Amino acid sequence: MKQYIKKLPKEVLQPFKFVRDLVPDYYRYGKVFRNVYNELEACEKLANFQHEEYQLKQLQNLLKYSYENVNYYKKIFDERNLKPDDIKSFKDLTKLPYLTKDIIRENIDDLISKNCSEKDLLYLTTGGSSGTPLGFYEDKKVAKSREWAFTTHLWKRIGYDVRKCSRFVILRGHNVKKGISEYNGRNLILSSYHLSDENIGQYIALIEKFNPDFIQAYPSSIDILAKYLIENGKTIHANKLKGIICASEKLYDIQRINIIEAFKVRVFSFYGHTEHCCIAGECEKNNYYHIQSEYGVVELINDNNEQVKEENEKGEIVATNLNNYVMPFIRYKTGDIAINSLSNCSCGRNYRLIKGLEGRELEQIVTHSGAKVSLTALIFAQHFYAFSKIQTMQLEQMEKGKIIVKIVEQQILDQKDISEIVNKLKIATNDGLDVDIQIVRNIERTKRGKHNFLLQHLNLKNY
Ligand SMILES: [Zn+2]
Repeated sequence: MKQYIKKLPKEVLQPFKFVRDLVPDYYRYGKVFRNVYNELEACEKLANFQHEEYQLKQLQNLLKYSYENVNYYKKIFDERNLKPDDIKSFKDLTKLPYLTKDIIRENIDDLISKNCSEKDLLYLTTGGSSGTPLGFYEDKKVAKSREWAFTTHLWKRIGYDVRKCSRFVILRGHNVKKGISEYNGRNLILSSYHLSDENIGQYIALIEKFNPDFIQAYPSSIDILAKYLIENGKTIHANKLKGIICASEKLYDIQRINIIEAFKVRVFSFYGHTEHCCIAGECEKNNYYHIQSEYGVVELINDNNEQVKEENEKGEIVATNLNNYVMPFIRYKTGDIAINSLSNCSCGRNYRLIKGLEGRELEQIVTHSGAKVSLTALIFAQHFYAFSKIQTMQLEQMEKGKIIVKIVEQQILDQKDISEIVNKLKIATNDGLDVDIQIVRNIERTKRGKHNFLLQHLNLKNY
């Protein structure tokens, strides 16, 4: 039936689409969505041990299935003389090796379940902003509805209601065919590629006219609008706006402060990735993130290849997707670094907490001495007076100890501002960097419209 409808001419489809857009998510996305959403509601306030029991059961089901149906995992278990029943605890999971992007590329056919036919497979690719893009598969029948249920359940924390129709402004790297905006169902899509001094006013006017319930944006894009509003002493007139939802790029504290000041609503950030092994959303009680345990088993692995134990200890997110049976991801190395927290949250949820994300592993600069300094330490943990005059910036490293800083100005930077930036970068690295400031008209975005704060051309593994 669905396929038949899809083949109808555009004019005939239009009324169908119009009616569909008036249906709230809870009914629009079908039974899979409702089942997952209801389960998440039921699990939300479980005790710690109940979450663990639930996860372990899901994990054991996945391991058993993978061993019996996926050639790659059959080989992995056999080589280690293991059977799925040998994995009795989360600690036992470490008997299995990591899954890396390279392993996936080299073994893609062997990683697909033997039970799947081609028509069941949904092909997805990662953006590749932190390396080469990766292609992989999920279950066409359930993947999107399931993912949407998890996502919208997190958004409930800032007032999103799946039983109502909310209107979104979306500023997340979509391609807009003509001009800077277009309508898609009940949402207004704005281009992330055309934000410039000349047309920011138009973006604001479009948002005000549309009067959305939520804005979903890349932090770097909404930050440009926020700075414009603050700089020009303007207030946004959007009286329905409940919150701004950020994802896909790290939300830096300085951006959060700007966005709240300009839009006067809560900013909600959540972490997710295309491979769907880990999803974590901010709590409404603080800015820590709860890792959603029904989604995946998450390990945080430190540089010594051990699970992190301490408060504030950093570790790479290594995660097992509990729901992808067509191409299981077991102990997948995401390359993303999270900051551990041992706190209990006052909201009553017992999901594991992280303080936040450190940014991509690649977000490090190499000084003259070969030391690696994170972008956070170098830029975002420092206060620069000149920041208020900068619309956006990008760092590029091609040689050890040298950095190019490209800046799009909000206001003209004078010599004092330039010296401030250069000196602070030098001090933060113990004079370990030569800094070349370049004022540019714009900074190119990635294919998906994301802004890269750092173009790192060095191979960090060599340092
Ligand atoms: Zn909480």
